[in-house]
Amino acid sequence: MEDCIFCKISKGEIPSEKVYEDEEVLAFKDIHPAAPIHILVIPKKHIAKVTDIMPEDEALVGKMYTVINKIAKEQGFAEDGFRMIINCGRDAGQEVMHLHFHILAGTKMGPKII
Ligand code: AMP
Ligand code: ZN
Repeated sequence: MEDCIFCKISKGEIPSEKVYEDEEVLAFKDIHPAAPIHILVIPKKHIAKVTDIMPEDEALVGKMYTVINKIAKEQGFAEDGFRMIINCGRDAGQEVMHLHFHILAGTKMGPKII
């Protein structure tokens, strides 16, 4: 998708600090970290938001969870734990309209975020 910053990152047109990459999924460090570890996990396919996920995307979205599991183990925060956040739409404050999972780790977080 033209003019999508995360599509550009997934094509290598905008640099990012990659943590994981395969043919379908990319993970990179958030440019404005909200925790000591803040990683974004995206599908390379342009899906704007959760409410645009289609039945044919089920395998891809499911795979994102196993990628996150792998990253958590490789980066060493699987045991201590982490938080996953997905913002969907205006009320959640979604700024980038390309589906992404925020992975926050490396600190003890409070029970609520709002
Ligand atoms: P959201 O509010 O859920 O749409 O989150 C978008 C996230 O993308 C924010 O945490 C931004 O800091 C992050 N972000 C925006 N541009 C970049 C970029 N070029 N590289 C890495 N992270 C980015
Ligand atoms: Zn995109």
